[in-house]
Amino acid sequence: MSNKIAVLPGDGIGQEITEQAARVLTALGLELELEWAPVGGAAYDLHGHPLPETTLNLAKSSAAVLFGAVGDWKYDSLARELRPEQAILGLRKAMGLFANLRPAILYPQLANASSLKPEVVSGLDILIVRELTGDIYFGQPRGVQTLSDGPFAGDRQGFDTMHYAETEVRRIAHVAFQAAQQRQKKLCSVDKANVLETSQFWRDIMIEVAKEYPDVSLSHMYVDNAAMQLVRAPKEFDVIVTGNLFGDILSDEAAMLTGSIGMLPSASLNASNQGLYEPSHGSAPDIAGQNKANPLATILSAAMLLRYSLNQGAQADRIERAVQQVLEQGLRTPDIHEANTQLVGTQEMGDAVIQALN
Ligand code: NAD
Repeated sequence: MSNKIAVLPGDGIGQEITEQAARVLTALGLELELEWAPVGGAAYDLHGHPLPETTLNLAKSSAAVLFGAVGDWKYDSLARELRPEQAILGLRKAMGLFANLRPAILYPQLANASSLKPEVVSGLDILIVRELTGDIYFGQPRGVQTLSDGPFAGDRQGFDTMHYAETEVRRIAHVAFQAAQQRQKKLCSVDKANVLETSQFWRDIMIEVAKEYPDVSLSHMYVDNAAMQLVRAPKEFDVIVTGNLFGDILSDEAAMLTGSIGMLPSASLNASNQGLYEPSHGSAPDIAGQNKANPLATILSAAMLLRYSLNQGAQADRIERAVQQVLEQGLRTPDIHEANTQLVGTQEMGDAVIQALN
């Protein structure tokens, strides 16, 4: 596999945070080839398009993309297809990124950041695997129609279609089972099989695929119960796999269990483990260019990149241990700062992680 990584900083704090993550990757001493290209508003300013062909080609020909964030209020008046956010959708589509992996980890040192009691969340480490390209978000037909009969005849009606093809469910199942194999070997599939045909079908396929992973224990949970259990006893979960709609909601809920948006990495993968890695937060234009942004979500995204796209799990562990260590040392960017900790900037946080690597 190629060791080429496309680094796409984007807008706002994107430049500062990807710079630190790239420095960390370089400091590992691996033979990685990092190539930079503009994306989002920055690319629009330079080339008139948020995802120029050169950037897209670089991404497609790389083993992985390290992505910062895109968006700024100054682009809000652009036509929809030219808005910075379209770059992410374009990359997902062109690279076939169907699996979204969002870990929610709460380091014990940051337990106070959560709105839940420390004993409920401290040490939390769960992974949500969300199907990203199917489900009711993309199902056809959809639209608004006028009803010709029934109790609401003459009314306008909005409608969408939920469906999943067998291939779509199987491939996300494999990603989730394999992720579980690398962790605590517990997979919980979340659906609404008591009400939805699509969900019953999803559950049946999960049970079939499970036969190929006898070392992973598979359980099932209805989405309403999963939403409750995530706040009642989140540490009961290891890996959760779910469809696009339920995953959209549950991954944000899980992220907020940690209370610190600057700490949350994410990965989006295709069938050949090519992936796009980005922090879960946005471009934070309010603090851009002030050396205030927390680079750890992006640095942890770089760790995921090594684990999932470059098969370098040991190096990923190294980065994650280094992050843990700087938190233990009490270093904090403003977003996670509290009494008796040491306030540092983006650059200093990057320096500290690099130092902790060795
Ligand atoms: P945001 O995530 O950018 O910011 C929300 C709040 O969190 C802000 O107060 C910000 O300062 C803070 N924050 C975010 N990341 C931080 C970090 N690493 N360190 C410290 N503080 C951090 O969300 P928003 O303000 O709603 O959106 C701003 C722009 O980002 C918009 O243009 C939006 O469209 C875009 N956006 C992009 C992505 C993406 O690129 N994937 C995702 C979400 C939002």
